[in-house]
Amino acid sequence: MNPRIGPHLISIEDLDRAGIERILDRAESFAEVAGREIKKVPALRGRTIVNLFYEASTRTSSSFELAAKRLSADVVSIRSAGSSVDKGESLKDTVQTLSAYDPAAIVIRSPHAGAAQLVAGWTPAAVINAGDGKHEHPTQALLDTFTLRRRLGALDGTRIWIVGDVLHSRVARSNILALQRMGAQVTVCGPPTLIPREIEALGCDATSSLHRLHEADVVYVLRMQNERMRDSFVPSLREYAQRYQITAARLKPGQLLMQPGPVNRGIELSADAIDSPAALIGEQVKAGVAVRMAVLYELLVGSPILAVAA
Ligand code: ASP
Repeated sequence: MNPRIGPHLISIEDLDRAGIERILDRAESFAEVAGREIKKVPALRGRTIVNLFYEASTRTSSSFELAAKRLSADVVSIRSAGSSVDKGESLKDTVQTLSAYDPAAIVIRSPHAGAAQLVAGWTPAAVINAGDGKHEHPTQALLDTFTLRRRLGALDGTRIWIVGDVLHSRVARSNILALQRMGAQVTVCGPPTLIPREIEALGCDATSSLHRLHEADVVYVLRMQNERMRDSFVPSLREYAQRYQITAARLKPGQLLMQPGPVNRGIELSADAIDSPAALIGEQVKAGVAVRMAVLYELLVGSPILAVAA
């Protein structure tokens, strides 16, 4: 059997477990390429990838760019600052303009939920959602799943707590879907004002207390996403930190700690937790390139498994 993914990756809902596993298996072979002196394979030679970033990004934009280059694609990276978007050009016009270069894929990050889906209707290219407002960030969830699978093996029955600002987090939504598809049990935890009401409909548990945190195998911490908050959701960041900050003392031996970055040191995470051996944060970043290579490869080349040869 050969499960296919695509034509786009807008949401984790586009993938069943077999599709996720296929991407993760492919990412394993690309992780091996990262260990070589020449970190390049010819899989996308002669094809063009456009990265379109309308919102701040360090890890996602750099790893998509590196992923496309390591697959030998030609890459055009556009950020809203300094582009014609600054001059008022609409997303639709920008996408149609860039489609004139006949890109194989457009990677889009936008502050607006649903933007990637719209882009998919305006271009013949494969569209990859690199984060659309509060909606989804599927490649983050895939790289997190990859990182955990590497560390723990199969995730069936693994208990994962996602702690913090769930309400504004596209990472939480994509991870709840992806980790559950891989057999994990997910609990979200945070102040009631930062837990969406309907979240349990996604199949996870919800709590506002860290009392049972010791039950978790993995503690996945979210950033307070102040840029998306229109109201005051917590009395103060100091109080938030007192109740919900994950510190080395709050972690029990053997628990793993994850965070998608960027980290607000001293708010959702203490310095001693970030620097503790429990933290997989560096491994998450590293996984970003291999997993995004795998997503580009699966969308644009697909089977058979042949292009990974040196
Ligand atoms: N980098 C992640 C995102 O773009 C998480 C965050 O910003 O807190 O959603």
